[in-house]
Amino acid sequence: MARTSFDIAVIGGGIAGLTAAHHAALAGVSVGHFIADGMPGGLVMNVGALDGWPTTGALGGAELAAGLLGRNEELGVSLVPSPIDSIEGAAAKTLSGPDGSWRAKQVIVATGASLRTLAAPGAERLFGRGVSQCAWCDGGLYRDAEVVVAGGGDAALSEAIHLAEFARSIMIVTRGEMFRARRSYVTRVAEDERFKLRWASEIVEVLGDKGVEGVRVRDNAAGSEEVVACSGLFVFVGLAPNAGLLPAGVGRDERGFVVTDPGFETTSPGVFAVGAVRSGYGGRLTQAVAEATTAAERAAVRCDD
Ligand SMILES: Cc1cc2nc3c(=O)[nH]c(=O)nc-3n(C[C@H](O)[C@H](O)[C@H](O)COP(=O)(O)OP(=O)(O)OC[C@H]3O[C@@H](n4cnc5c(N)ncnc54)[C@H](O)[C@@H]3O)c2cc1C
Repeated sequence: MARTSFDIAVIGGGIAGLTAAHHAALAGVSVGHFIADGMPGGLVMNVGALDGWPTTGALGGAELAAGLLGRNEELGVSLVPSPIDSIEGAAAKTLSGPDGSWRAKQVIVATGASLRTLAAPGAERLFGRGVSQCAWCDGGLYRDAEVVVAGGGDAALSEAIHLAEFARSIMIVTRGEMFRARRSYVTRVAEDERFKLRWASEIVEVLGDKGVEGVRVRDNAAGSEEVVACSGLFVFVGLAPNAGLLPAGVGRDERGFVVTDPGFETTSPGVFAVGAVRSGYGGRLTQAVAEATTAAERAAVRCDD
């Protein structure tokens, strides 16, 4: 019979969760790792070549996640292919999902974040018909085409750079007056005239009937609008935390990200939060790994109490 009680429960199958489960298992405690549908990888699942990951050669997100999952299995981590909807309790926690409930002494929440979508008319209707959030999945459909990317952070620029392998021109529309991205991405975009930039601007409508035919872009500084013809729109306009499983009383910042102490414990004792769900997370995989390692080691020590 499948086990229903663990020293540590880790929730979320992204790189933070996989790392937390790994280090908790290395510390010698029993670990249940809750991965929705058993599919690991999270936000980098479809990224074909990770930046900033210390390894030789190119490594994709799916490959990294699969490697960590396999290693965790060897270490004795119990994979539970279920999402968790709620966490309750004080000294021992009860975790509930659609198909059951489990007990754990300590909990590490690594549920990450979801890509925000555009509220503009047409964006939802044309999602999957020209509106996308994955250049690595859909970029090949836009060979010699004109595409638009919404956003100005690392994700927007790295995906735009990947689109440049296929597209004829890539317009980047950002609300800011500068990019908030790695300098190497900004330099790459600045050096290639196929990138057209629209600062202090936003997409106010996605145009098209059966597929994307263009976008209406508003220049917020000038107060003017233009229609830009394109067949693809890639949206990377920020992240929303996947924090709904935590009780309302657990501290969050004004954007809903989970507040922790410097050792990654939330305001609920015995519940840790690491990676993209956490307020103050820096956005790099290596930072997720560092946070998860620290939290796992702290939580494991508590299991002896
Ligand atoms: C397009 C893109 C490209 C990127 N490229 C890079 C890069 O090259 N290098 C780099 O350093 N960073 C990159 N990043 C940033 C990086 O992806 C994140 O910082 C990192 O993936 C965060 O990992 P995480 O495990 O905290 O969260 P996530 O990756 O979001 O993983 C969380 C997982 O938990 C699951 N989950 C959510 N709720 C529940 C629940 N209730 N129960 C169970 N499971 C749940 C989610 O489905 C998800 O699988 C990129 C980000 C994007 C969007």
